[in-house]
Amino acid sequence: MPAELLGKSRDELRAYCQALGEPAYRGAQIYHALYAGRRFDFAQMTDLPAELRARLAKEARISLPRVVRRYTSTDGSVRYLLALAAENARPASVEAVFMPSEDRQTICISTQAGCAVDCHFCLTAELGLIRNLSPGEILAQVLLPLEEHTERLAPRTNVVLMGQGEPLLNYDAVMAAVRIMLDTEGVGLSAKHVTLSTSGIVTGMERLAKEAVRPKLAISLSASTDEQRDALMPINRKYPLAKLLEACRRYPLRPWERLTFEYVMLGEVNDSPEDARRVVRLLAHLRAKVNLIPWNPGELPYREPAPERVEEFRRVLAEKGLPVFVRTSRGRDVMAACGQLALIEVVSGQSSVIS
Ligand code: SF4
Repeated sequence: MPAELLGKSRDELRAYCQALGEPAYRGAQIYHALYAGRRFDFAQMTDLPAELRARLAKEARISLPRVVRRYTSTDGSVRYLLALAAENARPASVEAVFMPSEDRQTICISTQAGCAVDCHFCLTAELGLIRNLSPGEILAQVLLPLEEHTERLAPRTNVVLMGQGEPLLNYDAVMAAVRIMLDTEGVGLSAKHVTLSTSGIVTGMERLAKEAVRPKLAISLSASTDEQRDALMPINRKYPLAKLLEACRRYPLRPWERLTFEYVMLGEVNDSPEDARRVVRLLAHLRAKVNLIPWNPGELPYREPAPERVEEFRRVLAEKGLPVFVRTSRGRDVMAACGQLALIEVVSGQSSVIS
């Protein structure tokens, strides 16, 4: 069985080359060609000797997921439906979304096929967890759209881990992929431009807090009381607001960093001015910003919030000095066909997806 190289770290590739009887630095060359150069065919790795390339072609492989479909939005966003290898005879597919804008592209990626967390406003929840993605499957969702749009890439790339799955419940694979994304010899993205969104897995947040290399953190709040959050996001019973916000207070932010709180506004459910005032109190003393995401009508039994309620909610937060953004929809026409990713929102070049 050929060895899969996509997803391997530099050290793993060095060890792999040494095991082949090659010098370890060949592994670093493969690492750079694969992640910085996006060369997915050994024949293109022309800084390797021809003999080694021929050997790798026989004994190793670089497998990108198969693109089952591309849905292109009128605003230029492309949603990829990607087939992953079946495990235990269970087929799996995920979505990645590429959203171009003038000075950057934002790529939303999935970390699990399906999800076990069961947020009630999320269609992915209905799938349950199918399986965790490997580091290579996570990275491929970044590399593949970048390569496909290579001719017209903007200078900056943002990645948001907000597609299918709860990233902190696939911690090791997610962080292995993130380290390669954030390595200057790897994909070379800035930590300021990679955001991991969690439903509030406190143990995962505590692990992330200790990482030397880590993405920014976004937390799906979406409620202003435990009662409300228990009803919308059952994970709240395990990690209630007090515990979650305590973990947020302890989270070591870098000087340039704020925690992002995503708040899905569901009409007549969690969108009142009282909710807004409670959110202000919950986030007091945190270096935070809030993304308000008005619900888009869809298959689930929720209503779009009235525009005046959204504005009132925004005003209450802003008046108390909380940076707050209302997300307007991007790629909505492709998402309508999606049925998996719940919401993709982009405003003034910043992106956020509810995961
Ligand atoms: S919103 Fe995210 S964490 Fe919640 S069920 Fe959906 S994919 Fe899972």
